[in-house]
Amino acid sequence: MEISTVGVIGAGQMGNGIAHVCALAGYNVVLTDVNEDALKAALALIDRNLERQVSRDKISADDKAAAMARISTTGKLADLGQSDLVIEAATEREAVKVAIFKELLPHLQPHTILTSNTSSISITRLAAGTDRPEKFLGFHFMNPVPLMQLVELIRGIATDDETYEACLAVVKRLGKTAATAQDFPAFIVNRILMPMINEAVYTLFEGVGSVESIDLSMRLGTNHPMGPLELADFIGLDTCLAIMHVLHDGLGDTKYRACPLLTKYVEAGWLGRKTKRGFYDYSGETPVPTR
Ligand code: NAD
Repeated sequence: MEISTVGVIGAGQMGNGIAHVCALAGYNVVLTDVNEDALKAALALIDRNLERQVSRDKISADDKAAAMARISTTGKLADLGQSDLVIEAATEREAVKVAIFKELLPHLQPHTILTSNTSSISITRLAAGTDRPEKFLGFHFMNPVPLMQLVELIRGIATDDETYEACLAVVKRLGKTAATAQDFPAFIVNRILMPMINEAVYTLFEGVGSVESIDLSMRLGTNHPMGPLELADFIGLDTCLAIMHVLHDGLGDTKYRACPLLTKYVEAGWLGRKTKRGFYDYSGETPVPTR
């Protein structure tokens, strides 16, 4: 199946990266968001990120110009009607995603593939709310999208082989590598990563180590490029907590209970880099551990 136009829903940190890599790979991209400012900010950020790639000789100035010319933005979901593939990357709330697909469905062509970039929500459940569960797949990019090599492809219980193969071909054209996951809570990456991050927070909570010694231990002791607490701040502590809840609710095992300290940070509004405070304070030039 030939895919030439990709509709991207949500122009936040993931949506702008997805639009960037799709346009650079030669797809026409229609990017939408409910927030007009988010669309403007996304275009400016894509322009800056492509410019950085030009300055590092990763792409030419012509490649950049061609990619920018392939991206159009719109405030109307109906304008995604001509897409061959839709990648939904809106806010991680099931009600939001369900409402988006419901509004979009009457405008789609019969062959259009629907996907979601959700980090944790059931693909099977999202698919069941559409008219095409067999053409629905989880398309889970990693953050930051232009830099990270992996895409998790998550098969819902009804996803057919043709849809999976078409999305696998897109991943390859983006120059990325796919890992296939079945549809169980938090899939593969977050099923393994989040309990490790949660355990790092327990290690801090129980006074086994300071923020600095925990991150140092995992960077130098296991060759991780970032410590688990720095990484949690980068992802967003609210997102980490939401994924722990999905694991706990979905698998029913107490080993997935969220650390009370993680809950407390989120309750305080200390969500990591995006609020300038999490396990580190980001208000100055260099991050300072808060514990
Ligand atoms: P974000 O908050 O940066 O962006 C979400 C965007 O969705 C916002 O611009 C918002 O205005 C828009 N939006 C909300 N409702 C909408 C609607 N009805 N129609 C169109 N746009 C709407 O969030 P993000 O970090 O980009 O996450 C987006 C998705 O990607 C989530 O499902 C998240 O779980 C997933 N994800 C996030 C990461 C990460 O590290 N942040 C990694 C992988 C996957």
